[in-house]
Amino acid sequence: MKKLTLGPGREWKVAVIKTCPLCKKGKMRIQKEILEPDGVEYEAISCVHCGESFLTMGQLDVLADKYRKLRRAKEVTFSKWGNSLAMRIPKAVAKEYKLSSGKTALLVQEKKGIRIVPM
Ligand SMILES: [Zn+2]
Repeated sequence: MKKLTLGPGREWKVAVIKTCPLCKKGKMRIQKEILEPDGVEYEAISCVHCGESFLTMGQLDVLADKYRKLRRAKEVTFSKWGNSLAMRIPKAVAKEYKLSSGKTALLVQEKKGIRIVPM
């Protein structure tokens, strides 16, 4: 049994699968993969020969949690406002985060997007 770390405070013991149970040729490695088109990164046990991936229940739980968070995401449209762009924030989101006209927030530029942190 090997210990597998799957995130903060989460550790799972797994039986190490050395050879791919599908093609029976490739070695299995734990690696990061990206699920398109959402660009969701996840950890899986993948075959270096055929590319087949397997997830432990722990890895699946981490991936499902990312999708639960994505499902709460809302699509917004940008509008031109002078030389800048304005973004309309849906009423329910504004209410949840206690946003109102004149309030300020920080725009935090991140690698994959922009985060809005109300002040
Ligand atoms: Zn394989």
